[in-house]
Amino acid sequence: MMDEDGATEVNTPKHAQITTANFPIPSSGHLQQVAPGIFWLRMPLPFKLDHINLYLLEDGDGWTVIDCGLHNTETLALWQQIEDQCFAGKPVNRVIATHAHVDHLGAAGALCQRWQAPLWISQGEFDSASSYLNPQHKQAKYPGFFMPLGINQEKAESLSKLGTGLAKLFAPLPEQVRYLQDQEEIAIGQYRWQILLAEGHCAAHAVLYCAEAKILISGDQVLPGISSNVSVRIDEPEGNPLHHWLEAIDRLLQLDKETLVLPAHERPFSGLHARLMQLKCEHHDTLELLTTQCSEAKNVFQLLNVVYQRELSPFDIILASGECLAHLHYLLDKQQMRKTVDEQGHYLFQTV
Ligand SMILES: [Zn+2]
Repeated sequence: MMDEDGATEVNTPKHAQITTANFPIPSSGHLQQVAPGIFWLRMPLPFKLDHINLYLLEDGDGWTVIDCGLHNTETLALWQQIEDQCFAGKPVNRVIATHAHVDHLGAAGALCQRWQAPLWISQGEFDSASSYLNPQHKQAKYPGFFMPLGINQEKAESLSKLGTGLAKLFAPLPEQVRYLQDQEEIAIGQYRWQILLAEGHCAAHAVLYCAEAKILISGDQVLPGISSNVSVRIDEPEGNPLHHWLEAIDRLLQLDKETLVLPAHERPFSGLHARLMQLKCEHHDTLELLTTQCSEAKNVFQLLNVVYQRELSPFDIILASGECLAHLHYLLDKQQMRKTVDEQGHYLFQTV
C-alpha cells in the first residue's frame, strides 16, 4: 500500500516534508507545553498502539480537556495526579471528544462527572457511542455484517465478541451533551477554534483548527506515521466512507501549509499538506491494487491476503475487512466495480 508505483491520480511528494516538532514527549502524568496555554499529555493504552495524546487548554478560570484516554484504574490515577500537580486549583470547564473511539472517549464520562462539566462531541459520534454501548443491539449485527465478506458463521461470531469487548473501557456517558457543529467557531481561552467534522475514520470526527495560531488539533484525522483506519461501519453496511475521507483530505488541504499538527498518536509535527498527500496516495494505490486483483471475482476475505500481505490478528481482521470493503464500495459507487452474491451468500467483487 505504500508502494508509490501505483499512484497515478495524485502527485506523490517524493521527499515529503514532514517534520517532527522538537518538544520532548511528556512522561505519564506530566504536561508538555506546545504553545502558550496549550499542553500535551499522554495516557497509556494496553494495545499494540500503546499511547494516546491528549491536550489540555487554558480556558479562562479553568481548563478544557481534549480527548480523555480509557476508563481504567491507571488512566484515572494519572488524571488525579494531573489534577493535583498541574491544574493549579482550577476546574475542568468542559471535555471535548474528537470522536467516540474508546481511547478518546473512554474516560470522558468520569471526567464530566468529577467536574460537573459538559461533554462536547458531534452528534454522529455520540450516537455511535450510545449504539456501541448497547451490546445486544450491536452484537446481533456482527455476524450479518461479516459472513457475506467470505467467512463462516463460527468465525463471524468470534469476531463479534471481539468487536464488542471494549465496552468495559468506557465510563457511562453523560446524559446531556453539547453537540459540536461543522464549521462552528468556539473560543477556548485566548484562541478561537474552527470545528471541522469529517466522516471516514468514524461517523463524524471533529478537528479543531486555529487559523491565527496555525494549530490543528487533529485527533485521528491526521497522524504523522499511522494511516487511520477507514472502514465501512456495521451501522451503515452499504456506506462509502472512503469518499468522505478523501473529501475531508481535500478540505484539510485548504488549511495553512505551516500548520503545527497536534495529533492523537505519535508526535506533533509540521508538514500537514505533505502528510495529507501521502495518505491520498496510499488510498489510490489500494484502489489500483483492488482493481487489478478483481479482474477475477473475489470476496473480501480472499482480498485481505493480497492487500495486507501479513498475518492478521482477529482484531486486525475486523479493521482490515472493513477497510478493504471501504475501497471496494468507493469503486462500486464509481461504477468501476460490480458486486454479485455467490451461492453461499458471499459478496463477490469484480472489476468492470
Ligand atoms: Zn480513532
